[in-house]
Amino acid sequence: MRLAKKFLPIVALGLAGCLSTAEDGQIKPGHRPDLNSTEAGLWMVMDRFERRLANSELVDRDPELNAYLNNLLCKVMPAHCQDIKLFVIKNPHFNASMAPNGSMHIWTGLLLRAQNEAQLATVLGHEAAHYLNQHSLKKWETAKATTDFLSFFSIATAGFGVGIVGLAAQIGGLGSIQSYSRDMEHEADKVGFDLLYHAGFDPREAAKLWEQVKAEKEASDDDTGSVFWSSHPPTEERIVKLKSMSRGKETKFSVSNTTQGSTFKRLRFSRWHDWADELISSRRMAESLIVFDQLKENGFDPHEVSYFKGEVYRRRGDDGDLALALESYKEAAQITPAPLKTYKKMGLVYQRQQKTAEAISHYETYLEQNPNAGDTAIVHTYIHQLRK
Ligand SMILES: [Zn+2]
Repeated sequence: MRLAKKFLPIVALGLAGCLSTAEDGQIKPGHRPDLNSTEAGLWMVMDRFERRLANSELVDRDPELNAYLNNLLCKVMPAHCQDIKLFVIKNPHFNASMAPNGSMHIWTGLLLRAQNEAQLATVLGHEAAHYLNQHSLKKWETAKATTDFLSFFSIATAGFGVGIVGLAAQIGGLGSIQSYSRDMEHEADKVGFDLLYHAGFDPREAAKLWEQVKAEKEASDDDTGSVFWSSHPPTEERIVKLKSMSRGKETKFSVSNTTQGSTFKRLRFSRWHDWADELISSRRMAESLIVFDQLKENGFDPHEVSYFKGEVYRRRGDDGDLALALESYKEAAQITPAPLKTYKKMGLVYQRQQKTAEAISHYETYLEQNPNAGDTAIVHTYIHQLRK
């Protein structure tokens, strides 16, 4: 709050700020805020935050992935794409956000879950709509002195110099306070849907994405959910409205778009192992299982997916989980070569079950199959200790 006070004069100066919009009520391409407006204050805070973010380890700088996403964003919002600064944030939760200065955050958890380009474009379109219709500014114009408004300043300015953990918390905090009214959410769904459709994507995927998110949320064993869920509830009402919007618009997407999104597919296949590891590390186990089942249904190698499900069960370790972990690893081992660490992980499960002979033989298989792996010394130590 100490740092927030520093920005209060800017807020006070901004009381007379006004929105600079086109006739359709949307922000104009190349828009810049009037000096001394509330908006200029918001931009200044976000610009500072962005400079710090740009140099941090939290940003995924994969050039091909970033080029692809910028290109997709330009398809979704062609007139404004030069005004958007896109950051891929390494975080396994489902989220994307757009700040009033056009700073867009796409979390890797979204890239793992969007099953095709149209689903990804659904979220980009939705966030683009919040920006185009200046929802965050409108919200703060009517709520200048509220806790939310002050929270924005305190979260965005707090923790300069406190390292990566502070920055990660700030990103989460910014996402959680970017919650809009039900009317704004509905407007963003509608405007986003039009952007999606006019960019040439199958509009039925919008409702499908939300259905997937709803299934994940329903399986959640953690009430807090992702920051995106709390600000974007995957409600039945939202799904019904998106389905009704796509009715009658689907015919041109029946057969012609089989190659659409091939770059996304390739990028996703090449990166998903890392994203899956990050998801498991977040310890949202029930949600992770739903996400992995959705990947299996959508063309990912079922054996590789089984390996990750095995990891969830092994690390969760509830009643019956070790047996489920073994079952999953056995499915994974049906392909040759098996996912890299499958036999080592089976060894760990047998060791926990105190089945020494099985543990040793699986560790040995792991070493035979992966003589140059970085962890051979430690696996030899496991075997040595079991033989004592
Ligand atoms: Zn929204």
